[in-house]
Amino acid sequence: MRKQSIFVTVVLLVLLLATVSSAQGPVLHDVRHGYGVTGIGWLSDYHADLKGTPGDSRVYYLDSGNPGPTVVILGGTHSNEIAGVSAATLIIERAVVEAGRVVVIPWANSSGAASIDERRPHLRTWSLETESGIRTFPYGDRRTNADHQEPDPESYLHYPSLYELPGNEARNLNRAHPGKADGTLTQQMAYAYYRLIIEEEANIAIDMHEAGVGSRLANMLIANPKNLDFAVMAIVELEMQGVIMNVEPSSEAFRGLSHREWGDHTQAAAYLIETPNPGQTPEIADADVDIVTDPVNPLSKRVATQLATIQAVLDAHDMFLGESLKWTGIPSYTELVENGLGAYLR
Ligand SMILES: [Zn+2]
Repeated sequence: MRKQSIFVTVVLLVLLLATVSSAQGPVLHDVRHGYGVTGIGWLSDYHADLKGTPGDSRVYYLDSGNPGPTVVILGGTHSNEIAGVSAATLIIERAVVEAGRVVVIPWANSSGAASIDERRPHLRTWSLETESGIRTFPYGDRRTNADHQEPDPESYLHYPSLYELPGNEARNLNRAHPGKADGTLTQQMAYAYYRLIIEEEANIAIDMHEAGVGSRLANMLIANPKNLDFAVMAIVELEMQGVIMNVEPSSEAFRGLSHREWGDHTQAAAYLIETPNPGQTPEIADADVDIVTDPVNPLSKRVATQLATIQAVLDAHDMFLGESLKWTGIPSYTELVENGLGAYLR
């Protein structure tokens, strides 16, 4: 009797372990959707081959049910660029859309989020104090996890342009747009975003990034040439609020980037926003890096810049085209800088 029950227990344990070890798929993140979220889906809804892979990711829908533009917003294309992740998370947790709809993907490359940043491997995670306690998020890598994709080629040829890049850029989502349905995991993620933008009939698509503090790209709004006028109008509006951003068009030669390929291959106006992340500044010694409370570029200010830039882009589309997205619940630039990001996450 006793031997039998031990045997049964062992068999059950083995079965349980087999189930756990065979569990695959995307790592899920701490995103506490608020009252404005009307639906939650998966990236694989737009490309079924991603289902069950580490490249799948959650997609959040904030649909007012009223006429207005559809705006697609990505954070975490590069998982160490946490202002974009944070701004996307804040939208999901606080925004209520009253006209038009917003589709948000806070962790655009789930596989990258499941990696350790190769430049600052000691960082691993970052935390914020919120009204519901300390919340912790991963500080992932710029690229898709090497374990999740075939070995890097000698050199990577972007599809379909055949533009040549270093081999490890084969795992950079922002060099893979507009993607390839039967390509690598990274190319398939890019393909799914391309399909999402088309199937959701997005008017505007925005990809949020960060760059090193001294980088030319820090505080930059990059626009596909077809919607450059809107970007120029947006930075003028930002300047009137005291938020200084630069603007530039997508490079003609440099392929695979979201603003370039989404703008060229879909109906959407395509933008990319960059804010300055101390974690990405090579000159700053590891011990001195504080990616959340840096005195010059605190995370709250970087998220405020991302959100103010999105608003300025929306205002420009409203002014020129009458594409009027209306939403509430997003703090102003000043409120976010003064009260801190933790005050607005749930
Ligand atoms: Zn980036």
